[in-house]
Amino acid sequence: MSLSSVQSTVSTLKSCQTDIGACMDMISDVALGIVEAQGMDNSSALKKLEDMILECSRLDREINCFVESVDEMTAQVRQEPPEAMVHLRDSVKGRFTELMSGVSDTDLQRHSKVVAFKDSVRKYAMQAGQTADENEGEELDEDIAVTQSQTNFICPLTQVEMVNPMKNKICNHYYDQGAVLEMIKVKHKNKKTFRCPKVGCDNTDVQQSDLELDLVMKRMIQNHKRQSKKT
Ligand SMILES: [Zn+2]
Repeated sequence: MSLSSVQSTVSTLKSCQTDIGACMDMISDVALGIVEAQGMDNSSALKKLEDMILECSRLDREINCFVESVDEMTAQVRQEPPEAMVHLRDSVKGRFTELMSGVSDTDLQRHSKVVAFKDSVRKYAMQAGQTADENEGEELDEDIAVTQSQTNFICPLTQVEMVNPMKNKICNHYYDQGAVLEMIKVKHKNKKTFRCPKVGCDNTDVQQSDLELDLVMKRMIQNHKRQSKKT
């Protein structure tokens, strides 16, 4: 086992994490479909989806722990004579087991996409209830109220209706995923910051980590599109 082969395995695993994230978004989207069709009645299906997303959260965590073990142990092995490489596999395995044993269910629940799953199901169920009975709704989440106006479906970057709306957790503005990620990439490449393009917003430094795909919003835009086609 050479260090370069270890590094290429690690980078393959990191790209798997992107797929795991996409898979988690898909699970959330299926859950929203169920809520849309059946409300919160089909709790067994929603529970199954929650178990699935927790399983993804565990996989994601395992990769993090593995990468961390490899980083630590390869750093250590560089300080030692070449013979130490022989034990690399065992020491990585040992460290990995140690790190994973410290991972609790609560940690898995804390994964941002697990939190987003629960939030979107809750919000969407509330919103569906509101539409069914306009007068008897509880007080709506502020961002749901905001999304009810169609103008907010427009991306401030592309000026067209968003396909994959990402919410900025800092200033609560929305942009389409493709456009905003590209803008941040270009700005950062030129050593510049990316200012929130929403008129009047004073957020001058938007980071990719501030952004989160908003599946409830995505579904609302899709529904809106379907509805406007009908009329
Ligand atoms: Zn903003």
